[in-house]
Amino acid sequence: MSQNDCQEHENEEKDYGKDYRSLNAEQLESKLKTLISNVAVIFELSDEQCLKLLQKYNYDKERLLEEGYSGEDALKSVEDVSQTSEHNDRQAMINDYVTKSRYLKWCPNGGCTRAIEVDYADIRTVRCSCQMEFCFSCDRGPHDPVPCDLLSHWLENNQRDSLEKIIFESKPCPKCGHLIQPDDKEDMKTGSVWCLNEECRQQFCWYCGVEWVGEHYDCEDFELPLNEKHEKLVSDFKRYSRYHELFTTQKENLEMEEALREKIESRETKTQYLQETLSKLLDCFRTLMYSYVLEFYLNEKCNANIFKQIREDLQTDSAKLLEKFLKLEEVDDSIETKKIVQEMGESAVKKRINLLKNCAEEIKNDNWTFDEHKFIEM
Ligand SMILES: [Zn+2]
Ligand SMILES: [Zn+2]
Ligand SMILES: [Zn+2]
Ligand SMILES: [Zn+2]
Repeated sequence: MSQNDCQEHENEEKDYGKDYRSLNAEQLESKLKTLISNVAVIFELSDEQCLKLLQKYNYDKERLLEEGYSGEDALKSVEDVSQTSEHNDRQAMINDYVTKSRYLKWCPNGGCTRAIEVDYADIRTVRCSCQMEFCFSCDRGPHDPVPCDLLSHWLENNQRDSLEKIIFESKPCPKCGHLIQPDDKEDMKTGSVWCLNEECRQQFCWYCGVEWVGEHYDCEDFELPLNEKHEKLVSDFKRYSRYHELFTTQKENLEMEEALREKIESRETKTQYLQETLSKLLDCFRTLMYSYVLEFYLNEKCNANIFKQIREDLQTDSAKLLEKFLKLEEVDDSIETKKIVQEMGESAVKKRINLLKNCAEEIKNDNWTFDEHKFIEM
């Protein structure tokens, strides 16, 4: 067992369900060599020919075998690509391997030269031996428990302020529901506005929202139309705002990292355990933050009671621990205090892992369904 293997085993609690490893250049090269010789045995071709063949199939042996080539056909297929491949030197060869294989990815940490190899391509959070964590599937920072596609949707649509402006400063056309924001001051004076939907072009009163039929002098003469579409929009927006706020609170907690690290650093006695516990706390904030995105999209019919209970406990633990860091001057250097703070960190980590396990299980067992349409539908 190598030193890195030992280190990885120590981190096992954090790497729940670990099915990936971090590889250095030598390990990558040996993996590639094994792959080449496996293919060479099957097709009875030279290593160089097999490398070209693998390059053509993005190092996916299974896909290559599915083609059902005979050695002769395989060789022909390689000849077609012989002009395009220039992978003579070792580094370029490994680089091509890592870049093309869907089971490999370079560690995004600037100074690190390792690659992560995964057992299945849709794996999410991975941690390199250099401690860098990232999402293997979407290259973002770790974002468990929310799936990559839902996170993309959330980030793309996360425009609370402009949505608020549209929803509360616009009025729906009484005929087609299209949201209208008149910017013509003259319109505002008379109260008469036109629907901007080309297929509708209904004239209506801006003040009372009814269709403008014939004479319209006093809005009070008209009964306000009940617009279900707009009401749904407003209630959807309120729901989104609630989650947006919960998300933002945790985001702001995460943004305190630098200030808190400096605070620890400025203490007279260097206390490594405080930095380590802070890292754990930040992981908790991140998990909490993304748990709200997950819940936002979660179908209301799904049972999420356990999830909500664990999260509440995690929130309580995180809040208590944050309190310690905010009042760091009250934290003394005694062994007892150290023990208390470390235990608080461990307790929070346990809940965080439980929350992630619960989410992974519910998703795996198809107990939960998600709906992108839960976002405000304009
Ligand atoms: Zn790394
Ligand atoms: Zn991702
Ligand atoms: Zn209209
Ligand atoms: Zn009116």
